[in-house]
Amino acid sequence: MAKAASQTIPFNSPYLPESGISYLRQAVVNKHLSGDGPFTSKCHDWFEQTLGIPRALLATSCTHALEMAALLLNLEPGDEVIVPAFTFVSTVNAFVLHGGTPVFADIRPDTLNLDEAHVAGLITPRTRAIVPVHYGGVACEMNALLELSARHDLAIIEDNAHGLFGKYAGRWLGTFGCLAAQSFHETKNISCGEGGALLINDTALAERAEILRAKGTNRNAFFRGQVDKYTWVDVGSSYPPSDALAALLYAQLEQADRIQKRRSKIWNRYAVELADWAAEQQVGLPSVPPHCEHPAHLFYLILPSLHDRQAFIDHARASGVCSVFHYQPLHLSPMGLRWGGRPGQCPVTEQVSDRLTRLPLYFELTDDEQTQVIRTVTSYRACQPAPRDALSRAA
Ligand SMILES: *Cc1c(COP(=O)(O)O)cnc(C)c1O
Repeated sequence: MAKAASQTIPFNSPYLPESGISYLRQAVVNKHLSGDGPFTSKCHDWFEQTLGIPRALLATSCTHALEMAALLLNLEPGDEVIVPAFTFVSTVNAFVLHGGTPVFADIRPDTLNLDEAHVAGLITPRTRAIVPVHYGGVACEMNALLELSARHDLAIIEDNAHGLFGKYAGRWLGTFGCLAAQSFHETKNISCGEGGALLINDTALAERAEILRAKGTNRNAFFRGQVDKYTWVDVGSSYPPSDALAALLYAQLEQADRIQKRRSKIWNRYAVELADWAAEQQVGLPSVPPHCEHPAHLFYLILPSLHDRQAFIDHARASGVCSVFHYQPLHLSPMGLRWGGRPGQCPVTEQVSDRLTRLPLYFELTDDEQTQVIRTVTSYRACQPAPRDALSRAA
Protein backbone atom coordinates (compact mmCIF):
# COMPACT_ATOMS: atom_id res chain seq x y z
CA MET A 1 0.00 0.00 0.00
CA ALA A 2 1.26 3.46 -0.88
CA LYS A 3 1.85 5.77 2.04
CA ALA A 4 -0.73 8.50 2.55
CA ALA A 5 0.56 11.99 1.75
CA SER A 6 1.20 14.00 4.92
CA GLN A 7 -1.27 16.76 3.98
CA THR A 8 -4.55 15.24 2.95
CA ILE A 9 -6.90 17.46 0.97
CA PRO A 10 -10.18 17.12 2.86
CA PHE A 11 -13.49 16.52 1.14
CA ASN A 12 -14.94 19.68 2.69
CA SER A 13 -13.67 22.57 4.78
CA PRO A 14 -16.19 25.07 6.14
CA TYR A 15 -15.45 28.74 5.40
CA LEU A 16 -15.74 31.29 8.19
CA PRO A 17 -15.42 34.88 6.95
CA GLU A 18 -13.81 37.43 9.33
CA SER A 19 -17.06 39.36 9.39
CA GLY A 20 -18.66 36.27 10.95
CA ILE A 21 -16.53 36.76 14.07
CA SER A 22 -17.50 40.42 14.43
CA TYR A 23 -21.19 39.68 13.83
CA LEU A 24 -21.00 36.90 16.41
CA ARG A 25 -19.48 39.38 18.87
CA GLN A 26 -22.24 41.82 17.97
CA ALA A 27 -24.88 39.16 18.69
CA VAL A 28 -23.34 38.72 22.16
CA VAL A 29 -23.21 42.49 22.72
CA ASN A 30 -26.86 42.74 21.63
CA LYS A 31 -27.69 40.39 24.52
CA HIS A 32 -30.02 38.59 22.17
CA LEU A 33 -28.78 35.04 21.77
CA SER A 34 -32.22 33.45 21.69
CA GLY A 35 -34.04 33.07 18.40
CA ASP A 36 -35.60 35.76 16.23
CA GLY A 37 -33.13 38.52 17.07
CA PRO A 38 -31.77 41.22 14.75
CA PHE A 39 -29.53 38.86 12.71
CA THR A 40 -32.39 36.43 12.18
CA SER A 41 -34.46 39.32 10.77
CA LYS A 42 -31.61 40.31 8.45
CA CYS A 43 -31.39 36.72 7.17
CA HIS A 44 -35.16 36.56 6.66
CA ASP A 45 -35.10 39.81 4.68
CA TRP A 46 -32.13 38.62 2.64
CA PHE A 47 -33.90 35.45 1.53
CA GLU A 48 -37.20 37.18 0.86
CA GLN A 49 -35.55 39.89 -1.24
CA THR A 50 -32.97 37.77 -3.03
CA LEU A 51 -35.34 34.97 -3.98
CA GLY A 52 -38.43 37.19 -4.26
CA ILE A 53 -40.50 35.01 -1.93
CA PRO A 54 -43.22 36.06 0.51
CA ARG A 55 -41.71 34.53 3.68
CA ALA A 56 -38.55 32.83 4.91
CA LEU A 57 -38.16 31.41 8.42
CA LEU A 58 -34.82 30.29 9.79
CA ALA A 59 -34.79 26.90 11.46
CA THR A 60 -32.23 24.92 13.42
CA SER A 61 -31.66 22.60 10.44
CA CYS A 62 -33.01 21.54 7.07
CA THR A 63 -34.31 18.46 8.88
CA HIS A 64 -36.42 20.71 11.11
CA ALA A 65 -37.57 22.82 8.16
CA LEU A 66 -38.76 19.59 6.52
CA GLU A 67 -40.52 18.62 9.74
CA MET A 68 -42.32 21.96 9.74
CA ALA A 69 -43.36 21.28 6.15
CA ALA A 70 -44.64 17.85 7.17
CA LEU A 71 -46.66 19.37 10.03
CA LEU A 72 -48.13 21.95 7.65
CA LEU A 73 -49.40 19.11 5.45
CA ASN A 74 -51.59 17.78 8.28
CA LEU A 75 -50.88 14.21 7.27
CA GLU A 76 -53.37 11.54 8.28
CA PRO A 77 -52.54 7.84 8.73
CA GLY A 78 -52.16 6.24 5.31
CA ASP A 79 -51.32 9.51 3.53
CA GLU A 80 -48.52 8.91 1.06
CA VAL A 81 -45.54 11.12 0.29
CA ILE A 82 -43.45 10.39 -2.80
CA VAL A 83 -39.73 10.73 -2.14
CA PRO A 84 -36.58 9.82 -4.05
CA ALA A 85 -34.84 6.63 -2.88
CA PHE A 86 -31.53 8.42 -3.46
CA THR A 87 -31.41 11.18 -0.86
CA PHE A 88 -30.47 12.06 2.69
CA VAL A 89 -32.50 10.37 5.44
CA SER A 90 -34.22 13.59 6.54
CA THR A 91 -36.04 14.02 3.22
CA VAL A 92 -38.07 10.97 4.19
CA ASN A 93 -37.81 10.79 7.95
CA ALA A 94 -39.42 14.21 8.49
CA PHE A 95 -42.63 12.99 6.83
CA VAL A 96 -42.58 9.55 8.46
CA LEU A 97 -42.13 11.20 11.87
CA HIS A 98 -45.30 13.23 11.29
CA GLY A 99 -47.53 10.45 10.08
CA GLY A 100 -46.72 10.01 6.39
CA THR A 101 -46.21 6.79 4.47
CA PRO A 102 -43.09 7.08 2.30
CA VAL A 103 -43.32 5.90 -1.30
CA PHE A 104 -39.90 5.57 -2.90
CA ALA A 105 -39.38 6.70 -6.48
CA ASP A 106 -36.29 5.98 -8.54
CA ILE A 107 -34.00 8.63 -10.02
CA ARG A 108 -33.08 9.55 -13.60
CA PRO A 109 -29.73 8.19 -14.75
CA ASP A 110 -28.62 11.57 -16.13
CA THR A 111 -29.25 14.11 -13.32
CA LEU A 112 -29.79 11.57 -10.50
CA ASN A 113 -33.00 13.46 -9.70
CA LEU A 114 -36.49 12.13 -9.07
CA ASP A 115 -37.64 10.31 -12.22
CA GLU A 116 -40.88 12.12 -13.08
CA ALA A 117 -42.15 9.15 -15.13
CA HIS A 118 -41.68 6.84 -12.14
CA VAL A 119 -43.37 9.40 -9.88
CA ALA A 120 -46.42 9.55 -12.18
CA GLY A 121 -46.84 5.78 -11.85
CA LEU A 122 -46.74 5.90 -8.04
CA ILE A 123 -49.58 8.38 -7.52
CA THR A 124 -52.63 6.91 -5.75
CA PRO A 125 -55.74 8.48 -4.19
CA ARG A 126 -53.73 8.61 -0.91
CA THR A 127 -50.83 10.62 -2.33
CA ARG A 128 -50.52 14.02 -0.65
CA ALA A 129 -47.12 15.35 -1.63
CA ILE A 130 -44.03 14.96 -3.79
CA VAL A 131 -40.64 15.88 -2.34
CA PRO A 132 -38.12 16.71 -5.09
CA VAL A 133 -34.45 16.88 -4.10
CA HIS A 134 -32.35 18.86 -6.59
CA TYR A 135 -29.26 16.65 -6.45
CA GLY A 136 -26.08 18.71 -6.55
CA GLY A 137 -28.34 21.72 -7.12
CA VAL A 138 -29.26 20.58 -10.65
CA ALA A 139 -33.02 20.98 -10.88
CA CYS A 140 -35.54 18.17 -11.06
CA GLU A 141 -37.84 18.33 -14.11
CA MET A 142 -40.10 20.85 -12.41
CA ASN A 143 -42.51 21.37 -15.31
CA ALA A 144 -43.44 17.69 -15.27
CA LEU A 145 -43.70 17.61 -11.46
CA LEU A 146 -45.78 20.80 -11.34
CA GLU A 147 -48.09 19.33 -13.92
CA LEU A 148 -48.57 16.18 -11.79
CA SER A 149 -49.12 18.35 -8.74
CA ALA A 150 -51.82 20.40 -10.46
CA ARG A 151 -53.55 17.38 -12.00
CA HIS A 152 -53.68 15.37 -8.75
CA ASP A 153 -53.81 18.24 -6.26
CA LEU A 154 -50.52 17.33 -4.58
CA ALA A 155 -48.24 19.56 -2.55
CA ILE A 156 -44.69 19.99 -3.83
CA ILE A 157 -42.15 20.39 -1.04
CA GLU A 158 -38.65 21.01 -2.32
CA ASP A 159 -35.76 19.63 -0.32
CA ASN A 160 -33.46 22.35 -1.63
CA ALA A 161 -30.53 21.54 0.65
CA HIS A 162 -28.18 21.43 -2.37
CA GLY A 163 -29.96 23.90 -4.58
CA LEU A 164 -29.69 27.42 -3.11
CA PHE A 165 -28.88 29.72 -6.10
CA GLY A 166 -29.71 27.01 -8.64
CA LYS A 167 -32.27 27.81 -11.34
CA TYR A 168 -34.71 25.91 -13.52
CA ALA A 169 -35.77 27.72 -16.70
CA GLY A 170 -34.47 30.95 -15.17
CA ARG A 171 -36.39 30.63 -11.89
CA TRP A 172 -34.74 30.10 -8.49
CA LEU A 173 -34.91 26.62 -6.97
CA GLY A 174 -36.81 26.79 -3.70
CA THR A 175 -39.56 28.91 -5.30
CA PHE A 176 -41.44 26.08 -7.08
CA GLY A 177 -43.00 24.17 -4.18
CA CYS A 178 -45.58 25.57 -1.77
CA LEU A 179 -42.69 25.09 0.68
CA ALA A 180 -38.96 24.51 0.36
CA ALA A 181 -36.32 23.54 2.90
CA GLN A 182 -32.72 24.86 2.95
CA SER A 183 -29.72 23.57 4.86
CA PHE A 184 -26.85 25.58 6.31
CA HIS A 185 -25.04 22.54 7.65
CA GLU A 186 -21.29 22.99 7.37
CA THR A 187 -21.14 20.75 4.30
CA LYS A 188 -23.42 23.07 2.31
CA ASN A 189 -22.42 26.06 0.11
CA ILE A 190 -23.68 28.59 2.68
CA SER A 191 -23.31 27.41 6.24
CA CYS A 192 -23.39 28.31 9.92
CA GLY A 193 -22.47 24.90 11.35
CA GLU A 194 -26.03 23.70 11.87
CA GLY A 195 -28.95 25.63 10.42
CA GLY A 196 -31.79 25.63 7.97
CA ALA A 197 -34.69 27.61 6.63
CA LEU A 198 -38.25 27.05 5.53
CA LEU A 199 -39.10 29.05 2.41
CA ILE A 200 -42.81 29.73 2.17
CA ASN A 201 -44.14 30.36 -1.33
CA ASP A 202 -47.82 29.79 -0.53
CA THR A 203 -48.75 32.72 1.73
CA ALA A 204 -51.74 30.78 3.06
CA LEU A 205 -49.23 28.63 4.99
CA ALA A 206 -47.23 31.49 6.53
CA GLU A 207 -49.23 32.17 9.67
CA ARG A 208 -49.44 28.54 10.74
CA ALA A 209 -45.75 28.05 9.94
CA GLU A 210 -44.88 30.84 12.38
CA ILE A 211 -47.09 29.26 15.03
CA LEU A 212 -45.65 25.78 14.83
CA ARG A 213 -42.16 27.21 14.81
CA ALA A 214 -42.97 29.09 18.06
CA LYS A 215 -44.06 26.11 20.22
CA GLY A 216 -47.62 26.28 18.94
CA THR A 217 -48.11 29.85 20.14
CA ASN A 218 -49.07 33.07 18.36
CA ARG A 219 -45.96 34.73 19.78
CA ASN A 220 -44.90 36.29 16.47
CA ALA A 221 -48.29 37.96 15.99
CA PHE A 222 -48.01 39.28 19.57
CA PHE A 223 -44.60 40.86 18.87
CA ARG A 224 -46.06 42.48 15.77
CA GLY A 225 -48.80 43.96 17.97
CA GLN A 226 -51.54 41.98 16.21
CA VAL A 227 -52.82 40.32 19.42
CA ASP A 228 -52.60 41.68 22.96
CA LYS A 229 -51.27 38.50 24.59
CA TYR A 230 -49.85 35.29 23.28
CA THR A 231 -51.05 31.82 24.02
CA TRP A 232 -51.15 28.19 22.92
CA VAL A 233 -53.13 27.97 19.67
CA ASP A 234 -51.90 24.88 17.77
CA VAL A 235 -49.37 22.05 17.87
CA GLY A 236 -45.78 23.10 17.46
CA SER A 237 -42.21 22.79 18.55
CA SER A 238 -39.14 24.99 18.88
CA TYR A 239 -37.36 25.57 15.57
CA PRO A 240 -35.68 29.02 15.62
CA PRO A 241 -31.88 28.94 15.81
CA SER A 242 -29.95 31.15 18.23
CA ASP A 243 -29.30 34.64 16.84
CA ALA A 244 -25.58 33.81 17.27
CA LEU A 245 -25.88 31.27 14.45
CA ALA A 246 -27.95 33.71 12.40
CA ALA A 247 -25.03 36.17 12.77
CA LEU A 248 -22.63 33.62 11.26
CA LEU A 249 -25.15 32.85 8.54
CA TYR A 250 -25.64 36.51 7.68
CA ALA A 251 -21.89 36.96 7.24
CA GLN A 252 -21.95 34.15 4.68
CA LEU A 253 -25.01 35.46 2.88
CA GLU A 254 -23.24 38.80 2.41
CA GLN A 255 -20.41 36.89 0.73
CA ALA A 256 -22.62 34.60 -1.31
CA ASP A 257 -21.47 35.99 -4.66
CA ARG A 258 -17.80 35.45 -3.85
CA ILE A 259 -18.46 31.96 -2.48
CA GLN A 260 -20.53 30.97 -5.49
CA LYS A 261 -18.05 32.38 -8.02
CA ARG A 262 -15.17 30.45 -6.52
CA ARG A 263 -17.18 27.21 -6.26
CA SER A 264 -18.31 27.51 -9.87
CA LYS A 265 -14.74 28.07 -11.00
CA ILE A 266 -13.61 24.91 -9.20
CA TRP A 267 -16.56 22.90 -10.53
CA ASN A 268 -16.01 24.05 -14.12
CA ARG A 269 -12.31 23.25 -13.96
CA TYR A 270 -13.10 19.70 -12.82
CA ALA A 271 -15.60 19.33 -15.67
CA VAL A 272 -13.13 20.51 -18.32
CA GLU A 273 -9.99 18.81 -17.06
CA LEU A 274 -11.57 15.45 -16.23
CA ALA A 275 -13.63 15.08 -19.41
CA ASP A 276 -11.10 13.15 -21.52
CA TRP A 277 -10.09 10.85 -18.69
CA ALA A 278 -13.74 10.15 -17.85
CA ALA A 279 -14.58 9.29 -21.46
CA GLU A 280 -11.59 6.92 -21.71
CA GLN A 281 -12.30 5.22 -18.42
CA GLN A 282 -16.08 5.09 -18.93
CA VAL A 283 -16.62 7.19 -15.84
CA GLY A 284 -19.80 9.27 -15.59
CA LEU A 285 -19.58 12.99 -14.74
CA PRO A 286 -22.40 15.31 -13.65
CA SER A 287 -24.82 16.15 -16.38
CA VAL A 288 -26.54 19.55 -16.45
CA PRO A 289 -29.50 20.04 -18.80
CA PRO A 290 -29.36 23.30 -20.78
CA HIS A 291 -32.37 24.78 -18.94
CA CYS A 292 -30.70 24.31 -15.54
CA GLU A 293 -28.16 26.55 -13.77
CA HIS A 294 -26.55 24.83 -10.83
CA PRO A 295 -24.83 26.29 -7.74
CA ALA A 296 -21.73 24.05 -7.88
CA HIS A 297 -22.67 22.16 -4.76
CA LEU A 298 -20.91 18.92 -5.58
CA PHE A 299 -18.80 17.24 -8.22
CA TYR A 300 -19.15 13.50 -8.56
CA LEU A 301 -17.73 10.61 -10.53
CA ILE A 302 -19.69 7.47 -11.36
CA LEU A 303 -17.14 4.66 -11.56
CA PRO A 304 -17.82 1.59 -13.70
CA SER A 305 -18.44 -0.68 -10.69
CA LEU A 306 -18.57 -0.90 -6.90
CA HIS A 307 -15.14 -2.53 -7.02
CA ASP A 308 -13.78 0.41 -9.01
CA ARG A 309 -15.32 2.91 -6.65
CA GLN A 310 -13.49 1.36 -3.69
CA ALA A 311 -10.26 1.07 -5.67
CA PHE A 312 -10.59 4.74 -6.67
CA ILE A 313 -11.23 5.92 -3.11
CA ASP A 314 -8.19 3.93 -1.91
CA HIS A 315 -6.06 5.33 -4.75
CA ALA A 316 -7.15 8.89 -3.89
CA ARG A 317 -6.45 8.41 -0.19
CA ALA A 318 -2.97 7.11 -0.95
CA SER A 319 -2.37 10.33 -2.93
CA GLY A 320 -3.65 12.55 -0.11
CA VAL A 321 -7.08 13.24 -1.56
CA CYS A 322 -10.25 12.53 0.35
CA SER A 323 -13.05 11.32 -1.92
CA VAL A 324 -16.28 10.16 -0.32
CA PHE A 325 -19.29 8.24 -1.56
CA HIS A 326 -22.84 9.43 -0.99
CA TYR A 327 -26.37 8.21 -0.24
CA GLN A 328 -27.18 4.56 0.25
CA PRO A 329 -30.54 3.47 -1.20
CA LEU A 330 -33.12 4.44 1.40
CA HIS A 331 -35.66 1.82 0.30
CA LEU A 332 -33.11 -0.88 1.22
CA SER A 333 -32.16 0.63 4.61
CA PRO A 334 -33.52 -1.13 7.71
CA MET A 335 -36.23 1.56 7.96
CA GLY A 336 -36.92 1.51 4.21
CA LEU A 337 -37.48 -2.25 4.31
CA ARG A 338 -40.11 -1.70 7.00
CA TRP A 339 -41.97 0.46 4.49
CA GLY A 340 -41.95 -2.27 1.86
CA GLY A 341 -38.63 -1.51 0.16
CA ARG A 342 -37.22 -4.37 -1.91
CA PRO A 343 -34.15 -4.89 -4.08
CA GLY A 344 -34.73 -3.99 -7.71
CA GLN A 345 -37.47 -1.48 -6.86
CA CYS A 346 -35.25 1.51 -7.73
CA PRO A 347 -32.54 0.09 -10.01
CA VAL A 348 -30.86 3.39 -10.95
CA THR A 349 -30.58 4.38 -7.28
CA GLU A 350 -29.12 0.96 -6.46
CA GLN A 351 -26.44 1.25 -9.15
CA VAL A 352 -25.55 4.88 -8.52
CA SER A 353 -25.23 4.34 -4.76
CA ASP A 354 -22.60 1.68 -5.40
CA ARG A 355 -20.62 3.62 -7.97
CA LEU A 356 -20.71 7.32 -7.11
CA THR A 357 -17.97 9.21 -5.30
CA ARG A 358 -17.45 12.94 -4.73
CA LEU A 359 -14.35 15.13 -5.08
CA PRO A 360 -13.15 17.88 -2.71
CA LEU A 361 -15.07 21.09 -3.46
CA TYR A 362 -15.03 24.03 -1.08
CA PHE A 363 -14.46 27.79 -1.17
CA GLU A 364 -10.89 27.69 0.15
CA LEU A 365 -9.65 24.83 -2.06
CA THR A 366 -6.58 26.34 -3.75
CA ASP A 367 -5.64 26.02 -7.42
CA ASP A 368 -2.60 23.93 -6.44
CA GLU A 369 -4.72 21.62 -4.35
CA GLN A 370 -7.16 21.22 -7.19
CA THR A 371 -4.27 20.41 -9.52
CA GLN A 372 -3.28 17.65 -7.08
CA VAL A 373 -6.84 16.31 -7.05
CA ILE A 374 -7.04 16.35 -10.84
CA ARG A 375 -3.67 14.59 -11.21
CA THR A 376 -4.77 11.99 -8.72
CA VAL A 377 -8.04 11.36 -10.53
CA THR A 378 -6.55 11.20 -14.02
CA SER A 379 -3.85 8.78 -12.91
CA TYR A 380 -6.53 6.26 -11.97
CA ARG A 381 -7.24 3.46 -14.42
CA ALA A 382 -10.56 1.67 -14.16
CA CYS A 383 -10.22 -2.04 -13.43
CA GLN A 384 -13.35 -3.21 -15.13
CA PRO A 385 -15.02 -2.31 -18.39
CA ALA A 386 -18.24 -0.37 -17.83
CA PRO A 387 -21.25 -2.66 -17.64
CA ARG A 388 -23.82 -2.10 -20.37
CA ASP A 389 -26.64 -0.72 -18.30
CA ALA A 390 -28.85 2.27 -17.78
CA LEU A 391 -25.92 4.33 -16.57
CA SER A 392 -23.54 3.85 -19.46
CA ARG A 393 -23.19 7.28 -20.93
CA ALA A 394 -20.71 6.50 -23.68
CA ALA A 395 -22.07 7.99 -26.89
C1 LIG B 1 -27.84 18.11 4.19
C2 LIG B 1 -29.14 17.61 3.73
C3 LIG B 1 -30.27 17.56 4.56
C4 LIG B 1 -30.22 17.79 6.04
O1 LIG B 1 -29.75 19.03 6.37
P1 LIG B 1 -29.55 19.39 7.92
O2 LIG B 1 -29.48 20.91 7.86
O3 LIG B 1 -28.28 18.76 8.34
O4 LIG B 1 -30.72 18.91 8.67
C5 LIG B 1 -31.48 17.17 4.03
N1 LIG B 1 -31.60 16.86 2.73
C6 LIG B 1 -30.54 16.88 1.90
C7 LIG B 1 -30.74 16.53 0.46
C8 LIG B 1 -29.28 17.24 2.37
O5 LIG B 1 -28.23 17.23 1.55
